[in-house]
Amino acid sequence: MAQLDRRTFLAGAAVVAFDPATSRWLTSLPENSGAVRIPHLDGELVTDEASLVEAATDYGHLAHLMPRAVLRPGSVDDIVAVVRFANEHGLTVAVRGQGHSTFGQAQADGGVVIDSRTLATIHEIAPDRAVVDAGVQWLDLVRTALAEGVAPPVSTDYLGLSVGGTLSVGGIGGASQHFGLLVDNTLELDVVTGDGRLVTCSDTQERDLFEAVLGGLGQFAVIVRATVRLQAAPAMARVYTLTYPRVTDLTAAQRTVLADGRFDYLEGQFVPTDDDDFAFVLEAGAWYTIEPPDDDTLLAGLAPSGVDVVDVPYFDWLNRVYETVEQIEALRLPGPWLNVLIPDAATDEIVTDLLTTLTPADAGGVALLYPTDRTLIRRPQVQVPEGPVFFLLALLRAVSPPDDAEAERLVADNDALYARVRAAGGTQYPVNALHLTTADWRAHYGERWPVVRQAKDRYDPRRVLTPGQGIFG
Ligand SMILES: Cc1cc2nc3c(=O)[nH]c(=O)nc-3n(C[C@H](O)[C@H](O)[C@H](O)COP(=O)(O)OP(=O)(O)OC[C@H]3O[C@@H](n4cnc5c(N)ncnc54)[C@H](O)[C@@H]3O)c2cc1C
Repeated sequence: MAQLDRRTFLAGAAVVAFDPATSRWLTSLPENSGAVRIPHLDGELVTDEASLVEAATDYGHLAHLMPRAVLRPGSVDDIVAVVRFANEHGLTVAVRGQGHSTFGQAQADGGVVIDSRTLATIHEIAPDRAVVDAGVQWLDLVRTALAEGVAPPVSTDYLGLSVGGTLSVGGIGGASQHFGLLVDNTLELDVVTGDGRLVTCSDTQERDLFEAVLGGLGQFAVIVRATVRLQAAPAMARVYTLTYPRVTDLTAAQRTVLADGRFDYLEGQFVPTDDDDFAFVLEAGAWYTIEPPDDDTLLAGLAPSGVDVVDVPYFDWLNRVYETVEQIEALRLPGPWLNVLIPDAATDEIVTDLLTTLTPADAGGVALLYPTDRTLIRRPQVQVPEGPVFFLLALLRAVSPPDDAEAERLVADNDALYARVRAAGGTQYPVNALHLTTADWRAHYGERWPVVRQAKDRYDPRRVLTPGQGIFG
C-alpha cells in the first residue's frame, strides 16, 4: 500500500459536529439540534463513502464492518481528542495501520477508525535505536536506517506493515531465533490510553502499561510513537535454499541449525510441486559485509536433496516479498489466514497429519513452517507454547477466484486446526481468520487472563478501543 500524506485526503468532507441522539457525524452544526461541536483537529475527520469503505476493508476481504467516521490525524493531540470524545459519547475506536489484518481486527462497526498513515515520521535514527511514529512502514524505516549502516535486528517477511500494527501483534521473522520478536526489541512507546491519556512507557516507566500494549492487540492504548532497537547492518545476505523430500526431514534439519545457531536467518516452507504436492524447503541466511561465509561449514550435516545458494544485497533480501504481496493484494482475494505456534514435541505429528489433506490451493501456495527459540520471547502478552522451542505454521491462504463459500470452508478449517493445535499445547499467532469467542480468548491467555482483564479495566474502562479483535465480546 502506498505511503499517503495528509494532502492526499483533502477531498473528504470534514466533520464539525456529532449528534449523540442519532450517532451521526455532521458537516455543519445546526442550531438547537442537540448536536455537539467536535474538538479542534489538526487533521480531519471524514465520513465520505470511499473513506468508510476503505476502513471497512482489510487484506483478508472477509469482514466488512463499516465505521461512521475516519480520522486522519494531523497530530498526536488529534488522537487524544478523538479518544476522549469517544469516551464521552460511547463510541468505539480502532486504529488502522496498513490494514493487513485478515478478519476485521482493525475495523470498528459504527465507530471511528484512525488511519495512522498520516502520522508516519521517522524522528531519529541513532546507531542503536530509531524513534518513529506508529504509522511508519517498516520498509521506510529499514531503508532509512540502512543508509546509516544500521537495521532492526528482526524483520517481518513483508515490510509493508505499520510499526504500530506489528507491535500490537508481536512481529516474528527468520531472525527471531536470535533476537525474539519485534516487541522484544522495543525500548519505549508513547501511547494514548483507552481513556485518553498520553503516556510514555518503557521497562522502567509505566511498565504495566508497556507490557500490556506490546502484543496487546490494540486493547489498551493507541501506540503513537515507538523507540525500536537498531544494530549494525551487514551489506550482503547469502541465502541457502535446502530441499528435503519429507516434512520431518525439514524439521529435523531446522532443529539442528536452531540449536547451534549457525545461520543468521532461519525459516522454512512447503513449496508447491508440479504434481500438486509439496516440496519441503529450509530457507536460511548468513549475513556478511566483506568475507562470504564458508558454505561447507554452514551446510555440514544437513544432507538436503537439493541446494541452491545465492548472494543478494541485504536490503533486497529484507524486501524480497514486497512486490509479490502488492500484486496479490491488488487481486483483492479472500485471505482466510491461519498462523499457529506449535510446541516442538507436537509439530511433526500435527504437520504430517495436516499434509495428508492439505493441497497447495488450500495453503494459498506457499505455507511457512519454522522453529524459534521461545526463551527470547519475553513480552508477557505474546502467548507462546511452553518448552524451549516452538514452530510457527502459517497457512497464507488466498481464495482464487473469490468464492464466499470456499472462504467460509477454509475459516472452518482454521477453527478445526486451531482446536487441534490448542489441544496439543499450542497457541495462535493472533493475525488470523478464526471464529473466536471471549471463552476462546480466555483460553488463549490462560493464567494471564485476569491480568488482561484488569489492564482493560484500568486503561480502557469504557471498552472504547479495538472492538474488531472480539476479545471482550
Ligand atoms: C502479506 C503479509 C505478510 C505478513 N508477514 C508477517 C511476518 O513476517 N511476521 C509477522 O509477525 N507478521 C506478519 N504479518 C502479520 C502482520 O504483522 C499483522 O497483520 C499486522 O497487524 C499488520 O500490520 P498493519 O499495520 O497492517 O496492522 P493493521 O491490520 O492495520 O492492524 C492490526 C491490529 O493492530 C491494531 N493497531 C494498528 N495500529 C495500531 C496502533 N498504532 N496502536 C494500537 N493498535 C494498533 C489494529 O486496530 C488491529 O487490531 C503479515 C501480514 C501480511 C498481510
